[in-house]
Amino acid sequence: MLKNSLKYKFVLAVCVICFICLLIVSLVSYRISYNALYSESTQKMTEAAQKNVEKMNGWLNLQAAIIKGMSDSFERSGISDHQDIVNFLQSEKELYPYFMFVYIGYPDGKLIDATWVPSSDFDCTNRPWYTGAVRKGDLYFSSPYQNVATKKMVITISKPVKRNGSFVGVFAVDIDMEYLTNLVINANIGGNCYAFLLDDHNNFIVHPNKDFQPTSKEVIKVAEDGKLGEIDRHIRDNNYNVFELKDYDGVLSKIDANGWTFGIALPKSEIVKPLNKLWLGFIISLLISLIIGIIIILFVMNNMLNPIQKLTQAVKDFANKKMDARCLVSSFDEIGELSRSFNEMADTIQDYSNTLEQEMEHRKDREQKLLEANRKLQELDKLKSELLSTVSHELRTPLTSIVGFAKITNKKLNEVIFPHTENNDIKVEKAISQVKDNIEIIVAEGDRLTSLISDVIEIAKLEAGKFEWHMDPVSLIEIIEKAILATNILFEQKGLKLRRNFEEGLPQVLGDRERLIQVVINLISNAIKFTIQGSVVCAAMRTGNEITVSVTDTGIGIAEEDFEKVFDKFRQVGDILTSKPQGTGLGLSICKLIVEHHGGKIWVESEPGKGSKFSFTIPIIKGNADVVVDEFGI
Ligand code: ADP
Repeated sequence: MLKNSLKYKFVLAVCVICFICLLIVSLVSYRISYNALYSESTQKMTEAAQKNVEKMNGWLNLQAAIIKGMSDSFERSGISDHQDIVNFLQSEKELYPYFMFVYIGYPDGKLIDATWVPSSDFDCTNRPWYTGAVRKGDLYFSSPYQNVATKKMVITISKPVKRNGSFVGVFAVDIDMEYLTNLVINANIGGNCYAFLLDDHNNFIVHPNKDFQPTSKEVIKVAEDGKLGEIDRHIRDNNYNVFELKDYDGVLSKIDANGWTFGIALPKSEIVKPLNKLWLGFIISLLISLIIGIIIILFVMNNMLNPIQKLTQAVKDFANKKMDARCLVSSFDEIGELSRSFNEMADTIQDYSNTLEQEMEHRKDREQKLLEANRKLQELDKLKSELLSTVSHELRTPLTSIVGFAKITNKKLNEVIFPHTENNDIKVEKAISQVKDNIEIIVAEGDRLTSLISDVIEIAKLEAGKFEWHMDPVSLIEIIEKAILATNILFEQKGLKLRRNFEEGLPQVLGDRERLIQVVINLISNAIKFTIQGSVVCAAMRTGNEITVSVTDTGIGIAEEDFEKVFDKFRQVGDILTSKPQGTGLGLSICKLIVEHHGGKIWVESEPGKGSKFSFTIPIIKGNADVVVDEFGI
């Protein structure tokens, strides 16, 4: 229920969409922020590199200018005495305390220093500062190296000395590199950023990592490949710009004074550090906004769905026959409109329901009254039948006597009295003829009345359940044959043809033989009675678990509206006024009672002027349904 709820589906969908959107936004903003931070940090590094390189260039040019000035003043002084030269050098050194050694080398290998006295075998002409200056013919910057005595990093700046245009020696100064080292060490833009200095041979001069720092014995060269290969490639390609190592980003800048390289590097992790803090803050605010969003959505959804739930509940209640269930939504949106429509519909249905209930009550009342009336009618009918039965019984005895005496009288008149009367008197003859006719009418009507009374008594017995039934397995074909035999004389009198249509091998039925013969005789004699010419067909066939017997004639037929009526008591249909019916109107009602007692049914199919077909069914004995009997069922 909860999972299927519209509310939770909606919330879930919104959450997923929000989450995906926020994730995309986060990733994009992360990338943008990273790029911004990256360019900011490279910008900072570039600025730091430029600033420091400017300082270094300035410092080195200054030193070079000082040394050039010293050398020029030495040239101009024209001193040549050893002690004078030492004094000159000492005075110059005192002016610049970071000048560690000030000295002059001569082509014969001798060296005069302000403070230091070299050994007798010392040859300055194979020193780089000497050879470099001679080769260049101008200022020469040596590679830095560690001074053996002071353990400090120094560089030597040397310059050839000329007198009167001829080379006399090389003027040189060893300068403490502390200023440059400090510049490199302090060139930090924050965090784990560091700077380094390379000489013109790509040797590390200054580096915060001990492994790269120069010693008195060796200097570390930037490897051409491996981790730092990128730096080497940049310098070789003269590409002094931004470089990127595996974990570092950095900037290289050339010191023009002596061709050294100043480098500054920043770990990538340092770049994203502020971003990580930002990221954490972002995730937290994302979660908070997601939670707030969910709460707001739930609130809005509740507001939206509550009326729908109310409406659903009202519809359910109404469906569960709570006819007074209504939806109390007062909003003016679509849901409110729907609720009002539902309420109106429920009102209408309730009205209909109430009317229907009242109608049902009235109908029940009417039914009750009808039942009561029916009961009274049945009572009256019973009383009538009893009365009829009693009257019939009472009438039968005297009627039998009347008919009997009438017949005897008729016989005596015919045999004894009329033969002895005068035959030549017309009046007498007329009287005799009248008496004869009257007595015949008395006998005929007496017979008809007797048969009517017998029918009434029989029907009364059948209805009262007082009839004695003799139920046996019987063959309906045998019964039909017996009925045909009994009505043979009628066929002859009317000159009608009789035809049989029996299915072979019909099983037996359980029935009262005499009563069933009575039914078939009745149907055949009716068929003969209402047929002027043509034929009567007696048929028997199996229809499912029953046997259907039918008697079809080519007589006057019966109108469809009389199909049911002919089975009513004392009912004679057709034009009774013009053609006086012969019979009592009880025959078919007796047939119906007998057939229904056997569990069958009787009906008529007919077309006025063409003939009628009376059929009745009798169920086949259960378990004996497939027992085939011979032609007469014996
Ligand atoms: P009745 O003694 O008058 O024949 P029944 O109950 O046997 O009484 O028949 C009732 C009425 O049904 C008849 O009066 C007649 O109108 C009609 N009827 C019965 N059988 C036939 C038939 N085969 N053809 C036409 N009408 C018939």
